Amino acid sequence: MEVLDLLEIESEVSLPKRYSQLSVEEMAARVKEIKAKFGNRLFIPGHHYQKDEVIQFSDARGDSLKLARICSQMPEAEFIVFCGVHFMAETADMLTKPGQKVILPDLRAGCSMADMADIDQTETGWKKMQEIWGDTILPLTYVNSTAAIKGFVGKHGGATVTSSNAKKMLEWAFTQKERILFLPDQHLGRNTAYDLGIPLEQMAVWAPLEERFEYAGDFEDVKVILWKGHCSVHEKFNINHIQNLRDKEPDTKILVHPECTYDVVQASDLNGSTSFIIETIEQAEPGTRWAIGTEMNLVNRLAAENPDKEVISLNPFLCPCLTMNRIDLPHLLWSLEKLEQGEVVNQITVSQDVKEYAVLALEQMLKRS
Ligand code: SF4
Repeated sequence: MEVLDLLEIESEVSLPKRYSQLSVEEMAARVKEIKAKFGNRLFIPGHHYQKDEVIQFSDARGDSLKLARICSQMPEAEFIVFCGVHFMAETADMLTKPGQKVILPDLRAGCSMADMADIDQTETGWKKMQEIWGDTILPLTYVNSTAAIKGFVGKHGGATVTSSNAKKMLEWAFTQKERILFLPDQHLGRNTAYDLGIPLEQMAVWAPLEERFEYAGDFEDVKVILWKGHCSVHEKFNINHIQNLRDKEPDTKILVHPECTYDVVQASDLNGSTSFIIETIEQAEPGTRWAIGTEMNLVNRLAAENPDKEVISLNPFLCPCLTMNRIDLPHLLWSLEKLEQGEVVNQITVSQDVKEYAVLALEQMLKRS
């Protein structure tokens, strides 16, 4: 049985039936009441990919970098109820003070990309890489990774990156070592390295399940080793979506996230982080039309909040991120009502031995962003 299945059972047992019988209005009123009661002892960060029913109650809305920073600056918040996914709650736990409690309203809110790199696979791959290239590699990990992977990276002198600072972090990494191992998203790694002028021929892919490299060139030429992971949402945009749109609506601008594949990023008009996407749409000329290649909750919200522009999804059949969507109003209310009763449910804690090194990786990033 998969871990997520186990968590599902646990979570469904934990969430009492009455939450499915309450109306949206009743739940919203209770959330407001509890928030008012706790004041600044309670802080609710909300990721841009969260549903409207949840994001409306967030005290701060942001991408993972912004939320990580904000959580580290909230010493008065005794409880941080994180509306996002598991790795974000882990990061919040690592950047907050002892005694502050981080809660994930539904433990099933994981991230399929983060799950594509586990620590045993990483140790195995690293050993193989050391045999080939010796001490010439600096590991970097996208923040969309488990605390254990961040710990691995910190232990080896590397850093975390987000989509908004990936370029800057890669530039820094090349001042430290000759080569980079980029975990766990091959697309962000490839797109960023290519932007820095590294040709595709100098990028090898490490396939952790097969424990082998996907690379046909000379190993001596390799500058970037890409972990074979991806985001299941952003991989659903393909070159046909772009070609169809170009044929039918040549005036529509195409803006995608760098978690999309290399060919999609190359064929788009613009690409950039979640913050870049939001700012570009906010600052666009009224009357312009945009097709966006990113998560659906965010695209729908951009369309609603920018009625003077036309905003559509690059893939009209895309669904929202399933795991982000696990955080819903019933789970948010349940975790808050438990707090009101003096009980902390679904607390996320990172062990001290992992935290010690993972924080080093996070701090390397935060001081350069
Ligand atoms: Fe993970 Fe992709 Fe969902 Fe983000 S959108 S949480 S990277 S699966």
